[in-house]
Amino acid sequence: MQVGELVERVRGGDRRALARTISLVENAAPQLREITAGLAPAAGRARITGLTGPPGVGKSTSTSALVAALRARGETAAVLAVDPSSPFTGGALLGDRVRMQEHATDPGVYIRSMASRGHLGGLSWATPHALRVLDAAGFDHVLVETVGVGQAEVDIAAHADTTVVLAAPGMGDGVQAGKAGVLEIADILAVNKADREGAQAAVRDLRQMVAQVDRAPEEWKPPVVAMSAAKGEGVDDLLKRLDDHAAHLRATGELERRRRARARREIEAIAMAALVERLADVRGHAALDALAGEVAAGGDPYAAADSVLAALEG
Ligand code: GDP
Repeated sequence: MQVGELVERVRGGDRRALARTISLVENAAPQLREITAGLAPAAGRARITGLTGPPGVGKSTSTSALVAALRARGETAAVLAVDPSSPFTGGALLGDRVRMQEHATDPGVYIRSMASRGHLGGLSWATPHALRVLDAAGFDHVLVETVGVGQAEVDIAAHADTTVVLAAPGMGDGVQAGKAGVLEIADILAVNKADREGAQAAVRDLRQMVAQVDRAPEEWKPPVVAMSAAKGEGVDDLLKRLDDHAAHLRATGELERRRRARARREIEAIAMAALVERLADVRGHAALDALAGEVAAGGDPYAAADSVLAALEG
């Protein structure tokens, strides 16, 4: 299929074209440059929501429940599950999950997992590409579910308009959220498994942690909601908070600021990837390795970088 036709089909929401294009993203295929140019004018309409939290907290269950709530309102949704910790798990990640099966035949829902195949830039490069594809396909919502904890999770969350951080009772939630810097990225905190003991304490702890952060009165204060995704309880409340946050983003100009910050990071990621490739082209991998050997043995890394940059300019 020609790139032009693929782009047209993606813009029309064709599933096979979507699947194929996201595989191209995973593999950092050279056609992406042209595909991206074709999709960019159609993107920017979807609301992008990130859901993150430690494994087992209920991200998939919550995502599925949210999708159901959105569909009940007649809105469409695409789900992208990304796994920063394991580059090779690929497409099986979500496809196998029974929880998502209820949406499998719904034409208003598209579900896909993505791994980075270890190429340069990894998921920080691939995620914005995949989000653009789903956005341009015309979904009202794109939900990005990230697996794993720590910095990778924080990085991935930076691709969303709104980030929901999930916690659950008995998972060291508050502490974990605070430690990994995850609290800072939360626009909404959701304590899932509220049917379990300790949920109210977790809500209280998280509210306290939120209250300790300095913010101006007009700034968004992340609400802490309790829900039981498995039972479908509290999901409407989460959806309402998501709507509130979306309205806040639009009213304050924060949406534009966030999207610009993302665009800037994307430009930098593309430029960095291109730069590193050109470095290897100009100097050759062997020469770079030799330089690395010198620096590792006590050489001056700045001088080495200078010589590499000089070769680029020359
Ligand atoms: P993920 O790894 O964060 O995506 O978590 P999953 O959505 O796969 O859920 C992990 C486990 O928690 C599964 O066994 C779910 O059935 C269970 N679970 C999810 N939500 C709830 C809930 O609200 N209450 C209870 N008790 N269990 C839940």
